[in-house]
Amino acid sequence: MQETDVLVVGGGSVGVSSAYYLHKAGLGVTLVEQGEICAGSSHGNAGLIVPSHSIPLATPGAVKNGLKWMFDPESPFYIKPQLDWTFIKWLWQFRAASKAHKMHRAIPLIRDLSLQSLSLFEEINQMGRLDFDYQQKGLLLLYHDQHGLEEGCEEAQLLNKYGLETAIYTPDEVADLLPGITFSVVGGIHFIQDAHISPGKYVRNLSDYIAHEGVDVRPHTEVLGFDRSNGRINVVHTTRGPFKAKEIVLAAGSWSPVLSRMLDVTLPIQPGKGYSITVNRPSDWPEIPMVLSEAKVGVTPMGDTLRFAGTLELAGFDLSVNMRRVDAIMKAIPRYLPDIQINDQDILEIWRGLRPCSPDGLPFLGRSSGYQNLVVAAGHAMIGVSLGPVTGKIVADLITGQSLDIDISALAVGRFGS
Ligand SMILES: Cc1cc2nc3c(=O)[nH]c(=O)nc-3n(C[C@H](O)[C@H](O)[C@H](O)COP(=O)(O)OP(=O)(O)OC[C@H]3O[C@@H](n4cnc5c(N)ncnc54)[C@H](O)[C@@H]3O)c2cc1C
Repeated sequence: MQETDVLVVGGGSVGVSSAYYLHKAGLGVTLVEQGEICAGSSHGNAGLIVPSHSIPLATPGAVKNGLKWMFDPESPFYIKPQLDWTFIKWLWQFRAASKAHKMHRAIPLIRDLSLQSLSLFEEINQMGRLDFDYQQKGLLLLYHDQHGLEEGCEEAQLLNKYGLETAIYTPDEVADLLPGITFSVVGGIHFIQDAHISPGKYVRNLSDYIAHEGVDVRPHTEVLGFDRSNGRINVVHTTRGPFKAKEIVLAAGSWSPVLSRMLDVTLPIQPGKGYSITVNRPSDWPEIPMVLSEAKVGVTPMGDTLRFAGTLELAGFDLSVNMRRVDAIMKAIPRYLPDIQINDQDILEIWRGLRPCSPDGLPFLGRSSGYQNLVVAAGHAMIGVSLGPVTGKIVADLITGQSLDIDISALAVGRFGS
């Protein structure tokens, strides 16, 4: 039997960040990942570190927009009708969470987590041991039509009230900020504090670093089941044999409910599929990332590549590539950036991944009430890279019994019932 202080399940942004902080706290750590490290959603995403995304997915307008877009195969948001009770229940919980007062309760919490994570990214970057293309240049939201800009300004004003800094630009000011690019926009909103990284490099390089420092990192090690008794998980069975651990951290992204079900722990997490297209970075492309707002497409410079990412499809565990949605992302680009031509030979990767979406847009983070030795860190939806370091730090603080400086009771694992 292989023994360790803490067994972390999942080699994405959340799992690897948790292993890093647990090791830093002096614990013996083993991390198991069913595929290669960073095989899940943490690889091909937009890499944005986003205090600007402090408004959760569940907002008063979300259900109406979802229904409006539902039948458009090129829309940025799609819900596949499914006769699956877990999914129907999730939609119901999402609807219940989409209330103004709940949104206002969530914003300061997401903001605090995001800002703390941003500082931790800076700290990791300043160590000088890892290269993950960290840059803090803000995030520029671009608007193609007036209505979109007005809605964007309303959101910016709301976030200003919560202390986030924005600057609103005319089309000329957008052009001044990013010389050399032609824009077809009515304006832009710059969220000054945001940053961006190459997410795959962050996760893989951090994993290599902790492995070098003594963490036992085990790719191709899939968790198959658990032995448990008297409120403890005694053994974790994997494809590479059984493990005994004093503490277990469940950080398996969209797959977390598959594992939690074996433990009779309910985690309402639905996979939300998104796509990205990574191309060679055009010469002189500026370092500021953008969002083509109405189309909901992120454009992130990452080292010598440029990534376009978008769409949210609630369609279960379907990892097929729907080329209509990939084309919809490609078609959105010239509407905002008319001179940009993406030729087939520029494409380095077309990727899809599953965001682990909770009904209220908040992660599940904390101890599971049914077990003395299980910490859950999953369900980060659109911001799991952004919140990777702060989640890892909180996981380590929970396990070492440190007091937390952020109240995470709203992230309780059992908040939708057990
Ligand atoms: C198109 C797109 C754009 C996005 N843009 C951003 C962005 O700009 N900023 C941001 O912050 N977030 C973004 N996200 C969201 C972000 O990618 C996720 O929130 C984040 O990657 C979740 O990290 P995770 O570690 O929880 O999950 P994952 O990265 O999915 O990792 C979970 C891991 O667990 C492993 N696993 C599963 N089951 C088992 C098992 N039984 N045994 C062992 N291992 C197992 C999986 O193989 C996987 O590697 C985006 C997502 C998409 C799809």
